[in-house]
Amino acid sequence: MSSTWHVLGAGSLGSLWATRLARAGLPVRLILRDAARLAAYEASGGLTLVEQGQAHRFAIPAQTVDAAEPITRLLVACKAYDAHAAVAQLLPRLSADAELILLQNGLGSQDAVAALLPSARCIFASSTEGAFREADWRVVFAGHGFTWLGDVAQPLPPPWLEDLAQAGIPHEWNTQILTRLWRKLALNCAINPLTVLYDCRNGGLLDHHCEVATLCAELTELLQCCGQPAAAEELHNEVQRVIQATAANYSSMYQDVAQGRRTEISYLLGYACAAAARHHLSLPHLEQLRERLATHLANHGLPVD
Ligand code: NAP
Repeated sequence: MSSTWHVLGAGSLGSLWATRLARAGLPVRLILRDAARLAAYEASGGLTLVEQGQAHRFAIPAQTVDAAEPITRLLVACKAYDAHAAVAQLLPRLSADAELILLQNGLGSQDAVAALLPSARCIFASSTEGAFREADWRVVFAGHGFTWLGDVAQPLPPPWLEDLAQAGIPHEWNTQILTRLWRKLALNCAINPLTVLYDCRNGGLLDHHCEVATLCAELTELLQCCGQPAAAEELHNEVQRVIQATAANYSSMYQDVAQGRRTEISYLLGYACAAAARHHLSLPHLEQLRERLATHLANHGLPVD
């Protein structure tokens, strides 16, 4: 019998995981922010997953952060900027040998969470699956993809990967998870901020190929300096491939800004610039991009961090 999957954050990705785990008959509990959110969830009758136009509702039990039940496995599905505070609230409930799976994009939030629980196992994840909330408690599975999981402290995979297989969550254990997260961060830095600043789909960056190439050169330098040469390999070529393959799409950062939502800038471009500063590396175009993006966000009344 699998131990319970506590899922912190019933947003897009949290709901996508929770519904598939529950559908496979695995024990799942949602952890919601407060009594008001719990009441709203219970009134809705459960979480609905919309997949290929078909909607199915799962009456997954939910609780608030301050419930008493101990937690041994926690799937952290908040945004990067919420992860540390949300996990901190759960400290009294987490067992000393708890396992946390961190789904956050970018870098920085994982280390902040891990520092809260030195004896817990923190597994970092990087996902190309896509989901969005059509309404509260209703998530659309928008893009099939893959999730890589890894532990920077321990190369052995956890036995509960079997649960993910049972739930049909495509995944792979990856002993170089930091390389994967850095690579994704670099791709994000080369594409997403420019789509916001030029107000365009990814394909619109074909008109700005010199700027993209300059950013890729600086990001390559950064990755090499940060001990991530594998993440730097052929970066510019892959960025060009991604721009072409996703030309019709709006980037996640573009969508956040367009919908007036806070971005994860501090864990993406902000993290890259801070890492460059730590290494006394001068990357003027990347830094200028961060400043332009921060100004743009401020002008739109959005947080600059
Ligand atoms: P999201 O839809 O905004 O969901 C985040 C959830 O966290 C919300 O439901 C929010 O609750 C909840 N939350 C925040 N603080 C909380 C707290 N203290 N206690 C309980 N719940 C709390 O975000 P998302 O799109 O799933 O993204 C999560 C992470 O996955 C991000 O880092 C994102 O970049 C990454 N990611 C997402 C996708 C995707 O397709 N969505 C793909 C790959 C990676 P409320 O509902 O009450 O606000």
